[in-house]
Amino acid sequence: ADPDIILSVRHLRKQYSATVAVDSVSFEVRRNEIVGLLGPNGAGKTTTINMILGVLEPSAGEIEIEGIALAKQRTRALARTNFAAVYAPLPGNMTVYQNLRFFGLIYDVAQLNARIETLLDQFELRRFRDTKCGVLSSGEQTRVSLAKALLNAPQLLLLDEPTASLDPATAQDIRRSIRDIATHGNGGILWTSHNMYEVQDVCDRVLFLSHGRILLEGNPKTLPGEHGVASLEELFI
Ligand code: ATP
Repeated sequence: ADPDIILSVRHLRKQYSATVAVDSVSFEVRRNEIVGLLGPNGAGKTTTINMILGVLEPSAGEIEIEGIALAKQRTRALARTNFAAVYAPLPGNMTVYQNLRFFGLIYDVAQLNARIETLLDQFELRRFRDTKCGVLSSGEQTRVSLAKALLNAPQLLLLDEPTASLDPATAQDIRRSIRDIATHGNGGILWTSHNMYEVQDVCDRVLFLSHGRILLEGNPKTLPGEHGVASLEELFI
């Protein structure tokens, strides 16, 4: 097995009675790579991510994380794989510190206190250390979600529209942080987005999903030219 392949998805399928939500989807995420998962509402992005997370059972197909089938490593996968979602709010009555500590204990993070202090600095959260998460702004909560997701230095980071509710400057900051995590970390990132500018800015590769199938795949900067159009938007409308 190639040690640089963090996530491998092969012929993944999910069927709900008459609806095929995900239809024979195959792709890889490599180390230090950000892969964008794009597609209109209902294309199957969340269904794909939920199967990778192990919260939804595939109808068919294989998912491997670091060369080991997800089915055979459920405990390990859950411990090492993380999902930072802006729509999955953090427990609001706990402070930033308490949240990080709570999840750090669940993930069994080594030297947890030192790890929390590093993350508070990395995500400029020190001044919110003792603030309840419920009163933080969307951008601040996203930074806490990211810090939480990085507690155990996961090999695979799954991000479902991490910048969806952020102002442009904050979104740019978050993109830089995530780019930095991809470049200097040890893992790979799968990122869903509807923002083509953002996708061009951060993703090394994009997969365009429509009606559960991958229609296009490639480098977001060169894909439009390869298809004779001026922009990513034109490809996807
Ligand atoms: P969005 O951009 O709107 O979040 P998405 O690409 O994440 O969309 P999914 O949520 O994965 O799309 O949904 C894919 C398809 O599967 C949709 O047609 C949806 O209606 C259908 N679907 C999802 N969950 C179920 C379910 N539990 N039962 C039946 N159909 C479902």
